[in-house]
Amino acid sequence: MEPETVRLAGDRGFWPACAAAALAFAQRHGLRDETLHRLTVVVPQGAHAQLMREALVRARAGDRPQAWLPPRLATLGAYADAAPADALALVRHAELFAALRAHAWVRANFGEAPAALWALARQIAALADELTLAALDDTRAFAQRFEAVLARHFKRRAARVIEPQAQLVLQLWRALHAGRGASNDAATALLRALRRRAEQAQREPAPLVLVADQPPAGWLRGFVELYSRAAPALLIEADHARAIAARPLLAAAWPELVEASTRAPLAERAAGLHAGAPPLRILATASLEDEASMVAEQVLAWLRAGARSVALVALDRVVARRVRALLERAQVLVRDEAGWKLATTSAAGAVMRWLDLARDDVYWRDLLDWLKSPFTLANVADKSAVVVAIEQAIRAGGALRGARAIGAAVAERAAHSDASSVHSDEAVQLLRTIDAHARAARRGGRTLAEHARTLAAALDALGMRQALALDPVGRAVLDELDALAIALAGDAARVGLAEFRALVAERFEEADFVDRSIESPVVMLSLGATRLRDFDAALLVGADADHLPAASSESLFMSNAVRAELGLATASDRAREQSVAVASLLARVPEVAASWCRRRGTEPNALSPLLDRLRLAHECTGGAALVQRGGRARFEVEAAPGARPAPGAAGLLPARLSASGAQSLVNCAYQFYARHLLGLREPDDVIEEPAKREFGEALHAVLYRFHREWGAQDFDAVPSERLRASLAQHVRTVFAPRVARLPAFLGLQVRCEALIDRYVEWLQRRAREGWHWCAGERAVEAPLALDERRGIALHGRIDRIDADRDGRRQVIDYKARPVTALRQALAEPGEDLQLPFYGLLLALQRASEEAPAESAAYVSLDGTTAARAVVREVVPEQPLPELVDALQARLRRDLQRIADGAPLPAIGAATVCANCEMRGLCRRDYWSAEDGAPPEEQV
Ligand code: SF4
Repeated sequence: MEPETVRLAGDRGFWPACAAAALAFAQRHGLRDETLHRLTVVVPQGAHAQLMREALVRARAGDRPQAWLPPRLATLGAYADAAPADALALVRHAELFAALRAHAWVRANFGEAPAALWALARQIAALADELTLAALDDTRAFAQRFEAVLARHFKRRAARVIEPQAQLVLQLWRALHAGRGASNDAATALLRALRRRAEQAQREPAPLVLVADQPPAGWLRGFVELYSRAAPALLIEADHARAIAARPLLAAAWPELVEASTRAPLAERAAGLHAGAPPLRILATASLEDEASMVAEQVLAWLRAGARSVALVALDRVVARRVRALLERAQVLVRDEAGWKLATTSAAGAVMRWLDLARDDVYWRDLLDWLKSPFTLANVADKSAVVVAIEQAIRAGGALRGARAIGAAVAERAAHSDASSVHSDEAVQLLRTIDAHARAARRGGRTLAEHARTLAAALDALGMRQALALDPVGRAVLDELDALAIALAGDAARVGLAEFRALVAERFEEADFVDRSIESPVVMLSLGATRLRDFDAALLVGADADHLPAASSESLFMSNAVRAELGLATASDRAREQSVAVASLLARVPEVAASWCRRRGTEPNALSPLLDRLRLAHECTGGAALVQRGGRARFEVEAAPGARPAPGAAGLLPARLSASGAQSLVNCAYQFYARHLLGLREPDDVIEEPAKREFGEALHAVLYRFHREWGAQDFDAVPSERLRASLAQHVRTVFAPRVARLPAFLGLQVRCEALIDRYVEWLQRRAREGWHWCAGERAVEAPLALDERRGIALHGRIDRIDADRDGRRQVIDYKARPVTALRQALAEPGEDLQLPFYGLLLALQRASEEAPAESAAYVSLDGTTAARAVVREVVPEQPLPELVDALQARLRRDLQRIADGAPLPAIGAATVCANCEMRGLCRRDYWSAEDGAPPEEQV
């Protein structure tokens, strides 16, 4: 028996006509209401099943309203019930990966890059599926044809470039079909399953209707013919050309789609037509943000007008994602049929970050990213405190790489600070677990299956499985990893962690997450998925020349000419499919719009050539312009400049104040409020490249060690070479552990050594002037009394205190800055507080019997080479006691005002604001610095 074939216009009447044809067919073959369930209707997409079901119900309701048993509706995959294509693909990718690694041409061109090899394996697997379907059951004959085509094509010199690739595909495809690989071939599995269906029909003949949304490929037509030998079969083909031809303007724009002559120019084809309603509106904007905004507004307008189904055709996924975000902000959810790649989700990101950690020996940046992911450490009770303990140890310069080293840094920091030992112990324990699993993951010479098992064990031990299982996307990630583990269970190829990681990345890139819980009238889908679907309105998002038609990816393995001879789809076939999809959409959907961003950055961005043809055709009929220029809706708002903030903080006066806190109070009351009263701080930068701060710390350590060795020695009486040798030894001692941790410290060591000669000269000159060293790194704390028995403790660490022959003391502060910069800082009396603050500390400390300091100086230690080195003191012009008295009065007054609730305005000078981390908080750039000086009662 031959299969029956019906061609129905692919317009809005398609499904009702399809239902009527299916029912008539069933009736012809003896099916009644009570036996109609024996009929199977195979539809192209899952969404079509619902449309067919509704059409069947409507078709029957008119005739016979009594109960009936509806036919079975299924997609081809569900009907064939073949093994899941994804699982088969994984096994085959692994086999192809192993084969590619061993191939000389691949090694020569791609080296050992695992990501590229997995991508190649995926491409070849897809190509092999196409070849298998094109070969039908005769692989031997097809392979011979393939060889003959290659021989013919590669005679031409220009084509020889891709001969090795094409031969590689043929060789691998043959190998797949010769060995056990054929069982892992999704196309073979599908063909086999369909054959089983046809055999089943011989035993239990049941009528079959197969609906095709485009001309069926040879293998599908072959199946229907095979089936029809055993049982009645009806092939219903959608005739898009008829639907398009019914709209003369569409036929004029795309004559090739309706088999009309393309000889006449477009203007001529359209000239005789009446100007009708525009077939679509093209929303042209100047930026992607405007484009997304305009699309969202259009969708909202359609919904407000009563549209019950709106299709967002995501030609440009970037713009489409932005549109979805804007609609969600307007409380309109979008059902995304295509979903989004797992690779773009944070759940998959956490798994990838773990593999990065394992591969790169626990690098600090990956570690912090991973620790802060919500998909890790669900088994750690106080995760945030543990993470803080680890982060602080890293930021304090403990260690940058290696779980053991970072664990040691955490333990050391806990021993030298008041950090919680419980959380530090937990952190150390966690880092041991991380270390064990990272080492296990790195162990070489293992199979993909062993890598998958090691990853699964890490997910369990590190609380990732638990955390991922609580989230829908996380569950999809776990499903993907479980499928990977099952599919790879029998694979024996030995690979490294980098290869396994590349495979996981590839899987996450391939797999989509579709949130099926969303019910919404707005559906986001691909252009292909719009075929034979009815919507009240549709919007082509991103209809520019780059996205419509979408360029088919360049085939590395086969030219279009070879593909055409082998009966595989070519680039022009794919372009035509897209033209049909657009024209059919316009023929079926009453309201269609397209968005077009006219510029990409500074470059013009052309409109899709498909739509441009339609635009020209419509204009030739004398119709109104299709392109509407627009942008985001604009609203009038009254200008309201921000106000300079001036909060009160009466209850927040701190118990202690350092020199930098006092300096902040003088620089800007708001900065003091944010930094010292609210305790807001930027975390310390992790030192990957030591710079000024690290140099200063090391220099201070060197000088402290040196002066502790020599004490109050008269340096003028010591040979300078002894002093230089001693200083050099201390430099080496201080820098050795730093250089071991970070080799970049070597540069700073050289810079420190360059200062030795000048420093010794300076010391000996000071000694001749009568100065000797008294103390170094002196920690001092002293109370400053305020009103009403309130007080505050001032504290600081003084670099050095010297004394002269008469016992007069001088406070010294080392600075790795040029003399000019220090002079500049001291130019405004009372504005640079550090030296007066130390003077005040010494003056206020009660327990001491020492005399207060009578003078103070910065010592500039500057220069990167010995020739340029400068060591010189810079002394404030005003006497220290005078500066100390002024500072004491100022601090008392300002701190008292804060305690009394006076406002703390943002009053930083431009130079201070330029380096202030609170600039975003005080919104310095959003109010005017000239909006009035702060009143007297403000701090
Ligand atoms: S940016 Fe300027 S005004 Fe703002 S807090 Fe910092 S110093 Fe003050």
